[in-house]
Order: sequence, then C-alpha cells, then structure tokens
Amino acid sequence: MNPAAIGVDIGGGKIVTGRVEPDGTVAEQSRLVTPRADSDALVNAVVRMVSALGPGLPVGVGVAALVTDDGELRYGPNLGVERVHLRQLLEARLSVPVSVHNDATAALWGEARAGAATGIDCVLLLTLGTGVGGAVLDHGRFVLGAGFGGELGHIVVAEGGRSCRCGSVGCLEAYASGTAIGVRAYELAATKPLPPVLKDVPGGFDEIDVSRAAADGDPFSVEVVREAGRWLGVGLTSLVNAFDPELVVVGGGVTDAVGHIMIPEATEVMTSRLIGAALRRPPRVVRAALGDDAGMIGAALLAPDREASIDDTVGPRRVRTHARLDPEESEGAP
Ligand SMILES: [Zn+2]
Repeated sequence: MNPAAIGVDIGGGKIVTGRVEPDGTVAEQSRLVTPRADSDALVNAVVRMVSALGPGLPVGVGVAALVTDDGELRYGPNLGVERVHLRQLLEARLSVPVSVHNDATAALWGEARAGAATGIDCVLLLTLGTGVGGAVLDHGRFVLGAGFGGELGHIVVAEGGRSCRCGSVGCLEAYASGTAIGVRAYELAATKPLPPVLKDVPGGFDEIDVSRAAADGDPFSVEVVREAGRWLGVGLTSLVNAFDPELVVVGGGVTDAVGHIMIPEATEVMTSRLIGAALRRPPRVVRAALGDDAGMIGAALLAPDREASIDDTVGPRRVRTHARLDPEESEGAP
C-alpha cells in the first residue's frame, strides 16, 4: 500500500489541506481564508499548511484556475493571480514531488475514486463555490481538449447578462455560484423588503448569510437560491446535450449549504428541456458524496506517486493536460 499524500484545494474563498490515505480517507485537515491577489502570500500559505500536516509526503494541488500540463497556474480570476508556476515553487520550497491540476478536475477524480461516481465512466461534475468549476470524464478520460477544457462555469447562459469575473458576460458562474446568490439577493432587495435575518446582519449580508437563511426556510432567500438552481438547470441542459453523461455530480460549499434546494430545481429544468426529453433517460443529478472535501481528496489521489496504485481503466496517466497556449511558444516552435 502506498503511503498517504497531502491534498490541497485552493478555492476563491478558502484553502483546504488534508492528509489523505490511499483509499480517500482524510486523516487530518486544516483550512485558511485564501489570500487574494498576492501570489507570494498564496504560496507561503500553502507551504505552511502542508508542512504542518506531514513533511516528506507527496503533494497534489487542485486550484481554481486554468492550469498547464506543467503545473503552472495560468489564470485564476477568482484568486486574482495569473502566471504563477505553482508546481515549481512548491517543489522548491517543500522538497517533495508536487502535481497541480484544476480544482474541479481534482474534485471529479475524488468522486470517481472514492465518492458518488465510483465505477461510472461518463460523469460531469460542477462545483458551486465562489465560482463554478467543471470537469468531464468521458469513458474514464478527462475531456480537456488542448489542455484548458472543462471550464463549464463559463458557458454563456444569458447573452448580454451579468458580468463574470472571467471578463465575459452572461456566464453560468454569474448566475449559479455563491457569489451570484449574494449579487441576486442585493438586486432583489431594491424591489422587495429584506427579511430581518438579512437586514440585521452587521456590515451587510453576504452569500453565506443568504444560503444559511434559505436552508432555514426564509422565503426571500429560498427564492434567490431556487432561481440560482433554475439557472444551473439552464446550464446543465446545454452541458448534458453536449456530453450526455450517465451521472452529474454537483459539489462545492454552496451545494453543501443549499444543494437540497438547487438540485431539484436544476434537474426539473434540465430534464424538461433536454433534446428528446420524452424519449431518453436523463442523467441522475446527485450531490458530491465527498462534499466540499472532494477537491482536496482528489488532489491527494492525483499526487505524483499515486499513479502506481491506480488501475488501468481510469488513471491520471490518462489526464491529458497538454496546454500550450502561449502564442510566443507555439509561434516560435520549429
Ligand atoms: Zn465567466
């Protein structure tokens, strides 16, 4: 049996690290608010957290960003950083092998190895957090295209709609993320009376307050979250039409809080609008079995020396991450 590995999940709101056994069991974990727009602080935080968990263990990182096959964080709009060579920097500081993947890719790997998608070959995953992450497994292989594919949160669901942090307009992320839930609640507050549970929050409420209030049954907040669920269904309709997965897994912190409200809404929209809806069986839509830990666990299971323990049907050796999108690099090539 291979030894444990350290998993690191770097999201827009928090960093989660954990020591993870080969079967996906988490032995110990810690969390920290993500330092924003400061790549040195980000790397320092990860080094400190990993060192505290177990020196010498291989490290797998999942990060909310476009990641190259060489482990460079190319663009992380929800982190406010770009072009940070996370793998090189962490290997130099920690003196252990490090792998870096997109956070949703890591989360899907966790669910496929030890969660809701175990034994299923065609799976689509969405993570609802600060942003919306996505990943697709097609017959056991990640669909990454030339390297940066799977950014399902940035499919456009509303042309001319809300601005997205990625620089585009009308992305699914701008309608179904935690951030979007907060934005929509403030929009609605201009025309509807705010319930005391939100009005009385010192310094103004945020999306976590709205989610909590929705989970407690506050009608204003429930409507905001339901609407986000319907947008999720609009996005899912396109995604299921495109990929026809057997299973859709929805994870992330927002799902932990209000997945029981959003997922039924999304499923209803998707199943009614899918092409040939009456003549086919739509995919099941389920919550991530590993909850918000899926990314951290999956990242650990993708850590460098894990490959030996992974069977031949689905393996990180089949993760195609050959992003070479630097214009200078490709144009300068012979
Ligand atoms: Zn976007």
